[in-house]
Amino acid sequence: MAETLAPVKPGRLIIDGKAVDAASGATFTTVNPATEEPITTVAEAGPEDVDRAVKAARAALDGAWSKMKPIERSRVLWKLGDLVLEHADELARLETLDNGKPIFESRYVDIDMVARCFHYFSGWSTKIAGDTTPVNPSLFTYTLREPVGVVGAIIPWNFPMIMVGWKAAPALAAGNSIVVKPAELTPLTAIRIAELALEAGVPPGVFNVLPGKGRIAGEALVKHPGVAKLSFTGSTEVGQHLMRTAADSLKKLTLELGGKSPNIVFADADLDAALKGATLGIFYGKGEVCAAGSRLFVEKSIYDDFVGKLAERAKKMAPADPLDPKTRLGSLVSKGQMEKVLGYVESGVKEGAQLVAGGQRQPVNGKGAFVQATVLAGVNNRMRVAQEEIFGPVLSVIPFDGVDDAVAQANDVPYGLAAGVWTRDVKKAHTVARRLAAGTVWVNMYNFYDPGMPFGGVKGSGFGRDLGEACLNEYTQVKSVWMNLE
Ligand code: NAP
Ligand code: MG
Repeated sequence: MAETLAPVKPGRLIIDGKAVDAASGATFTTVNPATEEPITTVAEAGPEDVDRAVKAARAALDGAWSKMKPIERSRVLWKLGDLVLEHADELARLETLDNGKPIFESRYVDIDMVARCFHYFSGWSTKIAGDTTPVNPSLFTYTLREPVGVVGAIIPWNFPMIMVGWKAAPALAAGNSIVVKPAELTPLTAIRIAELALEAGVPPGVFNVLPGKGRIAGEALVKHPGVAKLSFTGSTEVGQHLMRTAADSLKKLTLELGGKSPNIVFADADLDAALKGATLGIFYGKGEVCAAGSRLFVEKSIYDDFVGKLAERAKKMAPADPLDPKTRLGSLVSKGQMEKVLGYVESGVKEGAQLVAGGQRQPVNGKGAFVQATVLAGVNNRMRVAQEEIFGPVLSVIPFDGVDDAVAQANDVPYGLAAGVWTRDVKKAHTVARRLAAGTVWVNMYNFYDPGMPFGGVKGSGFGRDLGEACLNEYTQVKSVWMNLE
């Protein structure tokens, strides 16, 4: 039975604690990729709005926010985590409408992560501290850890609200203010979370949101001299462009970019668990996951059998209505992304890979950017489907022969975001974890995240870390104070 759902109200910019139209009056339409129908209109920020938001963020920082005691900042951030949980159904529905991901994921995984970010980092507000250093008995020498200032956060469409949690929670806990530019395809949840922040007691101007185009609003944020630090998650090409542009104003920068992560199954692994982990590693989030285990390395002695079972599992994962709680494979974020993914499947087959599951668009109720769970076997690590990020539910399975071969092939890629290792041999697990060029290694598990564990890449996957104590370095700067006691 179809639920009667409230219409989604038009999205507006959140500047200085108020929902406002763009200075130019421009709007755009955000679309549900599963039904291809418009969801609502959203105000489209331009350079003038960026300037207003950055100035409001600076004023709030110099005013109410920096005057708040850390324990008070902690309380409002904890309260924001609570409000995210209280509005879980509403936020999850917005996320699924905008992005096409299964409501199961947005309601039970993404919401939980966003709330945990605010709860976890709320505790850091009172614990970010400098130290004293014994330079000389006649001096008092100590450090202060201060907020960097106004943080610009530019985020992608694959985890729109999780990315708000990853960036806003530590930035605010460390005492900064923030201007968030959500992806043009998925602006709705960032706006709603900024409204909840106000309700939680975050002072107006501390948490601003500017939906709009990367080339316009994003670019203006990157160039704005009032922004002290940029936290970017997105593609490698845009990341490189941001780094060049940000050089002019010497902004602090963290870049979380793409990935082509290896998931390595040794013959001595618990193969049922590895099978589940390989499936989850690539089909979770429709494979539009930066850390997706998109290159599956399987040891030669078990290769044929494992691929057979994988294909069987994939064939059972039919895409379905994202709003149905039973659905585990939703719609890709757009028709454009669908075409890109199907193009990669074609290129893999042309280069000699065997299509053993999926490979086709599979509309639901005649519509949508749905792509079947796809497995390409017999892939060679030099093929495009093994080297380039597909960002869709397409798994490339590659055989290997022993530890050295597994590590050499796994590292032979421009990226280094994450990796998985499946084995019952503890020594092998630790050795391989050390030898893999990746920011995260999962052993006998895949695709797990926690606000306490740092996340980020090496090589083409970028630098700097989100989450964990490590990310607080990105959101603070150290001041050394020397005092003469003589
Ligand atoms: P994208 O095109 O790089 O966009 C990311 C964000 O940057 C969007 O908000 C986009 O705005 C904005 N942007 C685009 N051009 C810009 C410019 N010239 N100046 C300033 N901002 C600009 O990536 P995407 O297509 O949204 O996301 C997919 C990519 O992100 C994949 O490659 C994936 O691997 C990567 N990703 C990485 C991680 C990670 O943690 N490492 C996580 C998720 C995704 P518009 O939406 O208006 O274009
Ligand atoms: Mg949309």
